[in-house]
Amino acid sequence: MDRIPLVHASLGAQELAAVAEVFESGWPAGQGPKGKALEAQLVERYGVGDAVALTNCGVALHLALLALGVKPGDEVIVSDYGFPAPAHAVRYLDAVPVFADVHADTGLVDVESVADLITPRTVGMIVIDTVGLPADYDELNALAARHGLFVIEDAACAVGATYRGQQAGTLAPVACLSFHGRKGATSGEGGALLAADPEVGQDVRLRSAFGITSIFDQAKVIGLPISEFTEIGYNYKLSDIAAAILQVQLKRLDGLLERRRAVAARYAELLADEELLTLPVVPEDRTHVWQSYLVTLDASVDRAALAADLRAQGIGCGHGTWAGHLQPVFESKQVCHVSADLFRRHLAIPMHAELSMDQVERVAQTLRAALPTHATSARGLRGAA
Ligand SMILES: *Cc1c(COP(=O)(O)O)cnc(C)c1O
Repeated sequence: MDRIPLVHASLGAQELAAVAEVFESGWPAGQGPKGKALEAQLVERYGVGDAVALTNCGVALHLALLALGVKPGDEVIVSDYGFPAPAHAVRYLDAVPVFADVHADTGLVDVESVADLITPRTVGMIVIDTVGLPADYDELNALAARHGLFVIEDAACAVGATYRGQQAGTLAPVACLSFHGRKGATSGEGGALLAADPEVGQDVRLRSAFGITSIFDQAKVIGLPISEFTEIGYNYKLSDIAAAILQVQLKRLDGLLERRRAVAARYAELLADEELLTLPVVPEDRTHVWQSYLVTLDASVDRAALAADLRAQGIGCGHGTWAGHLQPVFESKQVCHVSADLFRRHLAIPMHAELSMDQVERVAQTLRAALPTHATSARGLRGAA
């Protein structure tokens, strides 16, 4: 039986050839020729003030908060539903993540719940483009402007998505991208920060390299310049090996996303009239890049049993993403009902650019056949018979 994996990174011969070039250049470390070329490619693609290539999206969030001057004890509102890297980043600075609930149909942060959480200690918000769908930025940016708050777009999953004609990654003054192996474009691990303000980019670039300018650049200067360390920085630079891979991935992105969109469209057809689940919703003013395809199971379905059944039949699946406020590390006393419910009921089914339409059909068929077996009402009926 052919296994259908939940995720699969589309890396191939073109990426290998780009890596071979880096080996020949003799500069595999960060901020070299490939790193700079990638940053230029990102600036061009997004039309932003600056782009900084970083080791991952988590560190991009960390450096974004530092550049924006977040201090210990400050409150930062974060989307509750999504990979909880924003809350981790807030905690890196001993600041306080405050979790905002989301909409049931999209999993996107609810602007009203953000507004309700603003206090005199709130300094800003990190908004997640949940599994590849941009949030309500017109309303969020307006709310932030009224209260003097910063907005960071966590576009980790949303490279290539759009909102009202604008690209994800440009929907707030600062955005963080991920190129982790489970995202639409990848270098294995990787990330970037996009900033409208070049000074933010400059601050982030310095802190990503222990607080000094590019060692690669220094070697080209005549004389013997010696950088001084003037602040505590980190080593968050993306390697030129990863940057070379990403240059290829970004060129291939439109084609890869087209495949994901075709898979999503086919799932929507095949599962449309299935009563035991609800399909993901995409508002008309934005596009989804389907980092994951999450269906919401009816409350009567035993998700763990269903997932075990699907896996036994060779169909990869998962729980979707996380409700941040429920993670023990944050010791949150907040309640986010909708997010908690999605965390219990979402099921991720295979989504990547290598799926064939035959595989998509098999996933849908197997899922539909298994669902009634794992619904409480069906079990009740069997019990009665
Ligand atoms: C994947 C993800 C991250 C983390 O990205 P890394 O590059 O793995 O650090 C952050 N935020 C969200 C919403 C994500 O989905």
